[in-house]
Amino acid sequence: EATINQIAAGEVIERPASVVKELIDNSLDAGASDIRVEIEGAGSKSITVIDDGSGIGREEAPLAFTKHSTSKIESKDDLHRIITLGFRGEALSSIAAVSRVELISRTADCLSAVRIGVEGGLVGEATETGSSVGTRVEVQDLFYNTPARRKYLKSKRTELSHITDTVTRQALGNPGVAFTLLNEGKVVLRCGKGELFDRMVQVLGADVARQLIPLEYKDDLLSLWGYISKPGYYRSNREMNYFFVNGRNISSPAISNAVRLGYYTMLPKGRYPAAVLNVRINLEEVDVNVHPAKRYVRLSRENEIMDGITAAVEQALKQEKL
Ligand code: ADP
Ligand code: MG
Repeated sequence: EATINQIAAGEVIERPASVVKELIDNSLDAGASDIRVEIEGAGSKSITVIDDGSGIGREEAPLAFTKHSTSKIESKDDLHRIITLGFRGEALSSIAAVSRVELISRTADCLSAVRIGVEGGLVGEATETGSSVGTRVEVQDLFYNTPARRKYLKSKRTELSHITDTVTRQALGNPGVAFTLLNEGKVVLRCGKGELFDRMVQVLGADVARQLIPLEYKDDLLSLWGYISKPGYYRSNREMNYFFVNGRNISSPAISNAVRLGYYTMLPKGRYPAAVLNVRINLEEVDVNVHPAKRYVRLSRENEIMDGITAAVEQALKQEKL
């Protein structure tokens, strides 16, 4: 059972940045407005995420570490209209299977917080402690009990850049939430609540933000808003493509391509526009349950959606010319 859990954990938790992503997703699902991430040793020593969200009740807290236990969906039908980032109930149990975890959480209707320690998947006794409303999860010694996996961690610099990228993505997708990322006590990223444009300035830099133009679009199937490259501001890869489908940050070569098509002949070979795009589609059209780390989604009317995205880009570029 321990081995099976460790293998399953590997599908969700590949590296420290996966822990950061899952913990931030949980904070966002809990309605946090301020999320703080502290890491030591590029995440392999410790990762702590502190939020001011709704918290976990004393009775539910031990269940949070049980495999496939989630408070976010109640029936199989709910799988067809997922509005939360989490739904598989796998993240905390997967993380806890390959690290030492301490959870401290308090809900608003409780005067004290609950504290639970988990080591190598073994859930300890719940105790009482003091804390403000919200949740603090500390993950220590990631992969301590799976040496093979620990060995595959890349240099501190690489792991830290994956973590920074993860926080950047989530920060871009949630400009209304304050984010702080500290590495060894030093601020890597700090951004207060604001509009998407302010957030782009904070995390991508003013130089990049200045090169982007707004996009807004709506048809029967989807609505889109965000920013794309001004004509002439192109990059050598897709790295600066940030897509959020119903709030979920995903990788999508199809969307990248649809955006590129909107630039048509303007775009030199091997060059890519930057894009920060929010896509809102009817929940029934999106299958989010296709990838353990939830990095991809399946769109049921993909061709029409991509045509809409290309049309939106063409329209934004035309308006820019006026
Ligand atoms: P999922 O997010 O898919 O439900 P997780 O394993 O990530 O599964 O989390 C398990 C459960 O623990 C969640 O359903 C939620 O009830 C609770 N939980 C985890 N993190 C938080 C948090 N930061 N704030 C409030 N509740 C949380
Ligand atoms: Mg989750």
